[in-house]
Formats: sequence, structure tokens, C-alpha cells
Amino acid sequence: MAKVAINLSTGALQQEEVIVGIDLGTTNSLVAYIHPEDKNAIAINDQGRGTIVPSVVHFPKNGEAIVGTDAKEYLITDPANTIYSVKRLLGKSYGDLGEHKDYFGYKIIDDDSEGLVKIRVGDTFYSPIELSAEILKELRERAEHSLKTPVNRAVITVPAYFNDSQRQATRDAGKLAGLEVLRIVNEPTAAALAYGIGIDPTEEKTIAVYDLGGGTFDISILSIHQGIFEVLSTHGNTYLGGDDMDRAIINHWIQENQLLADTVNEDKHLSQELRLKAEEAKKALSSQQVYIGNISDKINCHLERHTFETMIAPIVAQTIESCRQAMTDANLQPEQIDAVIMVGGSTRVPLVYDTVSDFFGKPANNALNPDEVVALGAAIQADILAGNRKDILLLDVTPLTLGIETMGGLMDSIIPRNSKIPTKAGRQYTTSVDGQVNMKISVYQGERDLVKENRKLAEFDLKGIPAMPAGFPKVDVNFILNADGILKVEAVELRSGTRQEVEVKPQYGLTDEQVEQMLMDSITHAREDVSARMVIEARTTAEQLLYQVERFLEKNGEHLTEEEITLTRTNLQNLRDALPTNDKDTILRAVDTLEEQTSPFAERVMQISIKQAMAGKKIE
Ligand code: AMP
Repeated sequence: MAKVAINLSTGALQQEEVIVGIDLGTTNSLVAYIHPEDKNAIAINDQGRGTIVPSVVHFPKNGEAIVGTDAKEYLITDPANTIYSVKRLLGKSYGDLGEHKDYFGYKIIDDDSEGLVKIRVGDTFYSPIELSAEILKELRERAEHSLKTPVNRAVITVPAYFNDSQRQATRDAGKLAGLEVLRIVNEPTAAALAYGIGIDPTEEKTIAVYDLGGGTFDISILSIHQGIFEVLSTHGNTYLGGDDMDRAIINHWIQENQLLADTVNEDKHLSQELRLKAEEAKKALSSQQVYIGNISDKINCHLERHTFETMIAPIVAQTIESCRQAMTDANLQPEQIDAVIMVGGSTRVPLVYDTVSDFFGKPANNALNPDEVVALGAAIQADILAGNRKDILLLDVTPLTLGIETMGGLMDSIIPRNSKIPTKAGRQYTTSVDGQVNMKISVYQGERDLVKENRKLAEFDLKGIPAMPAGFPKVDVNFILNADGILKVEAVELRSGTRQEVEVKPQYGLTDEQVEQMLMDSITHAREDVSARMVIEARTTAEQLLYQVERFLEKNGEHLTEEEITLTRTNLQNLRDALPTNDKDTILRAVDTLEEQTSPFAERVMQISIKQAMAGKKIE
């Protein structure tokens, strides 16, 4: 097994080894590395399959998951078992999905709106982390195959607006794919690095990164100062991109051609072909003025660039509106932007390029392949972390993750390893039992999912929480790690102001060898750790649901019929019986059944109580 050597004062790995950069995208993913001789960043093209790996996972009835272009074909023929856009679900609860619940062609489980979403494929439940791990595994295998060397470490990019839980989910996916994730980097930061911006620590710049992909749009304004990238503002639309341009072309052709209009809704293959032709036309119009083609050798379709531009003008205008908003949020004028960087395949559309350049008053950077630029920048960041760029000053980083214990003995990470110090991070928690007045805060260090495998640093009780129903108190836990490596942990209950804090030195008494061992253990035990975490999470969800439904029956049983009560009791018992199996799929299936059966009850009871309240109102 490869040995990891980390310089604790710099966080640099002291070993020449390939560390890849990964762009884990909503539609497409890529992996890149730095060529050891010429030091150029290169996107990996394994076996001539292209550098782009569609972020699609298909689960055949029997056998291993298929990822990439081969999986994409099943989007039409077997949508229930083919997962796309999983990045939209990472670190999200069902409640977070809001109006976009219907966007997905596969089954997303709504067990309770606070818990993280799960996806049901046949009788198995997958977390978005596991599905993302399948994509990362494919990228890792392609890199290993192409470079003919084991790949164990990576830098992975995420959108600048990703929150803590989405970043942690991305790290966990990496771990599950057998990768040590050296750092999670913002996509716009990676894009800037790919253009060599921000590599020289003396450089001070303000830049705009415009990222228009297939289904998402982001604009990020960054300030670069002493090698540190600060996100000043972000804006965008998570449901806007090249796919909308394709749809505009399809609608245009359908309007023009009666035969198409008559047949397209019934004929699945025709509509699929139409989609492909629309995309082909769009791409062709990026370099030519007219597109002429035909569908199924019988329907002619053509499009002029001018017509196309009129059609997509509202889409482009919407992105510019976001740019304007992001600039207002950052309190900047366009002339204060030193460079504009184009990311995402849709920035190849000339109207997009010209409009963005006009808005910022300078030609945008588009010399690099806009599909690859984020992965290339991630590879450069990986190279910097590997200590291969001697000219670059590395800031102090924390070698191990710092976090606290949550329900069921799980580690909830607050400051991920490799974070630059000084740093500050926090998260909000609540109570799990009605009337709970004390909360134990246990601080741990390490990479494992279960705190019992990590190193305990401190523990204290936050006392004097006002007695409230479970879930009502708001407790902020903040970690402040100063430049000397001293960690202050404070917990505050926001309603009462009750506060408690403790100080520890996480590095005290820890040798380099122990740090190495802790890192290696987290990778070798990743699969069992994630399985254990999923069982604990399933049990926690189940226990909460049991508690809620039992209480509901006690309070509101009178509003239910005999049959409903009997069925609820049977489903409750089935869930209780599922718990000792410790099998997450068995538990979640029972959760799903009870949840689906009882979810209409709450609404009914609410309506009854509203009616009663109205009836009780007296008008003089
Ligand atoms: P991404 O999500 O960054 O991979 O972007 C993919 C999007 O870029 C898809 O909507 C593609 O159709 C679009 N795209 C790729 N190449 C071109 C091109 N030459 N002209 C216009 N759009 C393109």
C-alpha cells in the first residue's frame, strides 16, 4: 500500500504521485491530471472514448452499475433504473427540492422533509452520495487505465454556492470511490487556475466566471488576493442552459412542420431523434450560418443562425440579468472586473460569447475548451497541493477533520481536513426529545464516519436549554481554529442565549505517523463506514417516524376509520420488526410504506381543526 507523507506545517504531500482533478458535473464529468514532464494540465481520454463522461448511472436488473455514455442510452428505454442529474440531489432534503420534484424520471423517497433524499431503484435505496461515488469510481478507473498507475487522491470541484452539507456529501462520495479528497475546490476558482489566474500569490484581481452548461447557469464574482480566492457573490439559475436552447429549436421546427407536430407526441423515437438533431443544429450554428438536416430521412429541417439567435435571446438576456445582480451584490461596476472566464459547452454559442463580452466591456477568455476548463484547474490545484510547484506558497492547513458527535454516534464534520487556517465554521443543531434541557457536545478529530473510530478531543454539556418540544431549540455550534492551531468550540442556544465553550489543541500528542494511519484507515474502511452510517440514518429516520405516528394516533385517532387504524398499527409493527434486521433497505421499505399510508392523515386532521376553529368563531 502506498504511504502518505504529509508535512503537517504545510499540508503538502511529500511524494511524487498522480493526483487527479475531477469536475463532478450535473450533466457531464471529467478527470484531468498534470503531465509529469511538460507540466501541462490534460483531460483524460481513456481508450479514445472522449474526455466527457455523462453523469448518468444505469442499474441493470442483474449486474454492476453502468456509468457514462453507455448508461445514457437507458434514459429513454429504462428511465426508472437510470439516474441522471444526481448532483442536484447531493446533500439535499426532499423539502429542499421544492417545485422541482417532478423534474426527475426516477423515484425519490420522501421519508421526512428534514432527512436527506434517497433514490429507490427496484428494492434498493441509494443515497446521492453512493450514486455520485459510482461516477467518481468510473472516472478513477478511466484515469488508472489511461495513466497505468493507481489513483488514490483527488481534488474535486463543486459550485461556489454549495453549502457545507453539499460539500461534505461530495467528500463522502470521493471516499466511497476509494479516493482521498485532498480538497473541495469551487468550480470558478478551478476555472481561473486553468487560465493561470491566481497562481502567482502577488497577483490581485477581481474576476467573473460565467458558466453556462446543459442544464445550469452560474455566475461567480471572485476576488483574488495573496493566492486566496474569495467568492464575492454568486447568482444563476439551476434550471437554465443549453437544453433550453435545444427545446426552443424543437418548438420552432414543430411549429413549422405539420407532419412533425402530428407525430412527435406518439413516437418516442422520433422525439428522441428530434432532440438530437436540435442539439446538432445548435452546435453547427456555433461555427456556421445555416444548418440543413433531416429527421428519419423524411422530414427536412433547417435553421439559420439569425433565427436561432432571435429564439435564444431571452435565455441569454436572463443570464445577463443574473450577471447584473451578481455585480450589484458584489458592489462592483463592470469596468472593475479584470478578467472574464467562459465555462460550459453553451458558451461556444457566439451570441452568448458576444453578449457576455459586451456586458463586461472586454473580450472574455475562451481559449481553453469550456467543457474541460474546470477539470484542468482542479488538476492544477491538485499539483499545488502535492507540493510539485515549488514557487507556490502553501498556507497552513488542518491535517484532519474536526467535528462533533450526532445521533447514533455519527461524526458530523465541521472543519474538513486540509482547510486553510485560521478558519471558522459552524452548524445549527436541535434537540431530539421533548423537554430536553441539556445537550452533550462531544468534539472529535478524524476521517471516519463513526465517532468511536475517531479521536475524542473534548466534551461538555450545554445546560439550561429552555424546555421545548423536540426540534424547537436552536443550538449554534461554532468551531474557531486560530493560526496557532488552537480550536475553540462554542455552543449557544439562540432563544435563551445559554452559552458554553471549550478550548483544545487538536494536534497535541499526535505524530505524523498517526495522522497518516488515520487517513489510510478512512479510505480502507470507507465502504463499511458508509454502510454503517446509512443503517444508523435509516434507524434514526424510522425511530422518528414511529414516534410521530404513535403520537398522532394517540391524539387524533378519533378522525381515522377502524380500517385505517388497523392498517397503521400493522405498518407500525412492520417497521418495529424491521429495525432489528439492521438492513437499511428493509428498514427504508417499511418507512416508505408507513409514510405513504399515513401522509394523507395530517392534512385531513388539519382541515378538520380549521373547520372547527371557523365554526367556533362568533360574530356579534
Ligand atoms: P456542459 O454541461 O458544460 O457539459 O455543457 C453541455 C452543453 O453545451 C450542452 O447543452 C451542449 O449541447 C452544449 N454545447 C456543446 N458544444 C456546443 C457548441 N459547439 N455550440 C453550442 N452548444 C454546445
